[in-house]
Amino acid sequence: MMPLPLRLLERLGCMLPDNADAAGSATDADLILVGGGLANGLIAWRLQQLRPGVRVLLLEGGNALGGNHTWSYHEADLTPAQQRWLAPLVAHRWAGYSVAFPERIRQLAGGYASLTSSRFHAVLLAALAAQVRLATPVGSLSDRTVTLTSGQVLRAGAVIDGRGLRPTPHLVLGFQKFLGQELRLAGPHGLTQPLLMDATVGQHDGYRFVYLLPFSADTLLVEDTYYSDEEQVDADRLRARIAGYVKSRGWTVAEVLREERGVLPITLAGNINAFWDESPGLARAGLAAGLFHSTTGYSLPDAVRLADLVAALPDLSSVPLSGAIRAHAVAQWNAQGFFRLLNRMLFRAALPDQRWRVMQRFYGLPAPLIERFYAARLGWLDKARILAGKPPVPLGAAWRAGWSGAAAAAAGLPERMEKNT
Ligand SMILES: Cc1cc2nc3c(=O)[nH]c(=O)nc-3n(C[C@H](O)[C@H](O)[C@H](O)COP(=O)(O)OP(=O)(O)OC[C@H]3O[C@@H](n4cnc5c(N)ncnc54)[C@H](O)[C@@H]3O)c2cc1C
Repeated sequence: MMPLPLRLLERLGCMLPDNADAAGSATDADLILVGGGLANGLIAWRLQQLRPGVRVLLLEGGNALGGNHTWSYHEADLTPAQQRWLAPLVAHRWAGYSVAFPERIRQLAGGYASLTSSRFHAVLLAALAAQVRLATPVGSLSDRTVTLTSGQVLRAGAVIDGRGLRPTPHLVLGFQKFLGQELRLAGPHGLTQPLLMDATVGQHDGYRFVYLLPFSADTLLVEDTYYSDEEQVDADRLRARIAGYVKSRGWTVAEVLREERGVLPITLAGNINAFWDESPGLARAGLAAGLFHSTTGYSLPDAVRLADLVAALPDLSSVPLSGAIRAHAVAQWNAQGFFRLLNRMLFRAALPDQRWRVMQRFYGLPAPLIERFYAARLGWLDKARILAGKPPVPLGAAWRAGWSGAAAAAAGLPERMEKNT
């Protein structure tokens, strides 16, 4: 189905005026969004902006929309129009950033911005008001019905599952895991821009780096991060490493303001159609839809694009909605095969304590290529450039893992993945 231009939709307003679904039964909403996180929150907000007549219900099991996150993105990942509608949620913005490795320190131009979940909660709650139900855990759901854990059943023209990534046998994953602390220091830290990767630190549990976001002269977010094969996070150990890092920079902590932690999926291989077939006919959003950058696990740009896509669909009833989102997710997956190959290089071909060399080499590439990498918009010349020269790890095993069953098995990938890596 062709999405309608957003301007036209803005003028048309609500296109679903009745209170009945396709079968004529009474409904509680045109669209029920299960999970009030990043993806569903943005869908609800975008619909409210462009089509306020659509009856949306956003159900969140916790007490706040958006959980406890700092979501960052490179501004080049989004179009100018997307940056404009997202702007009220942006809490911090910088004109550039840097990275540091044992043999390379580099300053890069290019806008970087962060949303905070506290602002996300406040802005969305003010805009969506009665469309939001907090502390409303959902027990089960189907394409048009939601059963709350209280036993109440809600019906809608369509349901979108945005509850995050659930365990699945159809994705082979590595992990980007981290613990972050927002700190107030006893004095200024001296940073004016983010340090996205400080990989001069000791290497443990895969590729380790520290991520720094300066929020004010004396406050900053310090994240101890790992590209790891294991998803377990030893929180106390990471807190101790943050304390050690802060000390090594000569900083003194006055107060730990907040803490967040994450285990983000990094896809090595998988079967996107089998993944979607786990819940046939049910629309999904965010990580639940497989909509994230394969190499970073970041999903904010995908969530923005999905919100635009949903808001532009002429028919928001279940079948066309789930069909359109699935087609979009499959196309995104197919476009990211090269990123999964790179992930296999990082996770399968490089020894864990040598993974930093892959990243150090990558950050020596031209800045526009790095920008296109994060935006997942690599051309074939970019791909050739990334693989050209002398990669610091053997390429063959990673390459073959996607193409031959035996090599896939040798690289630790299930053979059945080979058709759809
Ligand atoms: C700490 C952290 C930092 C991150 N930082 C970045 C970043 O900087 N940039 C970036 O692009 N990505 C980042 N990510 C990755 C990714 O963008 C986020 O995980 C993002 O929040 C995923 O969006 P989502 O909508 O799929 O899921 P979520 O935002 O996790 O939302 C899922 C929601 O569903 C709710 N829920 C679950 N089960 C139920 C139920 N049964 N009933 C009702 N509600 C339910 C949850 O409470 C939650 O609010 C980060 C992730 C984490 C964890």
